[in-house]
Amino acid sequence: MAHVRTSLRVSCSFHRCLDIRPPSIKTLLPSRGPSPSSNPKLLPTTSLLLSRHSSNMTTYSIPKTQKAAIVESVGGTLTIKDNHPVKQPEDLKPGECLVQLDCTGVCHTDLHAAKNDWPIPAKTPLIGGHEGVGIVVAIGAHTQDSPVKLGDRVGIKWLAYSCLDCEACRKGKEQVCEKGQYSGFTVDGTFSQYVVSYVSHVTPIPDGIASPEAASILCAGVTVYRAIKYSGANIGDWITIPGAGGGLGHLAIQYANAMGLRVIAIDTGAEKRDLCLKLGAEKWIDFRESKDLVKDIRDATGGPGPHTTVITATSPAAYEQAIDYLRPGATMMVVSLPAQGKLSCDIFFTVTKGITIHGSYVGTRQDAREALDIAARGKVKCYYQLKQLDALKETYEGLEKGTVVGRVVLDMKQ
Ligand SMILES: [Zn+2]
Ligand SMILES: [Zn+2]
Repeated sequence: MAHVRTSLRVSCSFHRCLDIRPPSIKTLLPSRGPSPSSNPKLLPTTSLLLSRHSSNMTTYSIPKTQKAAIVESVGGTLTIKDNHPVKQPEDLKPGECLVQLDCTGVCHTDLHAAKNDWPIPAKTPLIGGHEGVGIVVAIGAHTQDSPVKLGDRVGIKWLAYSCLDCEACRKGKEQVCEKGQYSGFTVDGTFSQYVVSYVSHVTPIPDGIASPEAASILCAGVTVYRAIKYSGANIGDWITIPGAGGGLGHLAIQYANAMGLRVIAIDTGAEKRDLCLKLGAEKWIDFRESKDLVKDIRDATGGPGPHTTVITATSPAAYEQAIDYLRPGATMMVVSLPAQGKLSCDIFFTVTKGITIHGSYVGTRQDAREALDIAARGKVKCYYQLKQLDALKETYEGLEKGTVVGRVVLDMKQ
């Protein structure tokens, strides 16, 4: 590899502390990421981007167009295009980076964004997607203190950007930043071969986890990981997971197990039952077969009900039932986002049982690293079907019908 050189540290005021060393063999060939040698678009070339400092810098050539799935207008249909423009390195702003995607997960949120059925409208035209894994192929000129460098394998998650300076950010709640930007919602997401993101917010992907397995940890994984973390549940406590056989739920079972909790999986159908039990759920309840769900859940815990519930099902009924079956002092983690759902609960019993209702929204950059670290150590495994971008429409249909078991991950290298 002729391009391997020693690290070059630039100390001018623009690139203070920015380590712009040429990609080493290791960074050019991330352990599970795409191989530049097998992809002509990734062949190293002389950099234009950083030529101000080093005319012989190694970087990547970027195509002018790419394949992308686009919703052109509010309520419009999804179209797969082959000629969508790629933002060129010289057009990146300071702090922005261009990531060539290896793969991306498909989340229920993407379906809501495409249908625009949430109270807050998505941008249009919209490229959805917020569970992308790929490599950094360009960084905007004059970017300072970048925590990532060219060739790094990184993740794109729902929270694309936060200001890091508002009260929420200062208090470690960056996911509710007043200036937050969201991948595949307020900024274009990962249903394209290249995506623009921010060096401060892309998530380094640890070694030891394949890109398709890491993809869904970036939203589904971090969402349930944080919810369980903040539920206050202790080792040996009971947790119910309504929606346990779905994208979030099947990861929640494993994170709960890793934290020493006892899992009651709630969902429907033999395929989801088998997956939940295989992943370590101690009890399984099919909500369609159950004649008295509240009683069945309480009975599964020996009577008093679970200590917590992380609700990943998108049916508002799942929230109403929880107040009835939770034990006194329990916590309900509100996670899934039904389109028009209202949280309806009996105030008397919420008060007298001392139930805590806690809305938990994705996670911080730190939560994402923790969730990925647990997965990379083999404690949590995403069950996914790998499909092509062209399969996005049918995936949305499956999500709408509730027939997607685990996760669908799209291969973006084609
Ligand atoms: Zn998501
Ligand atoms: Zn902020």
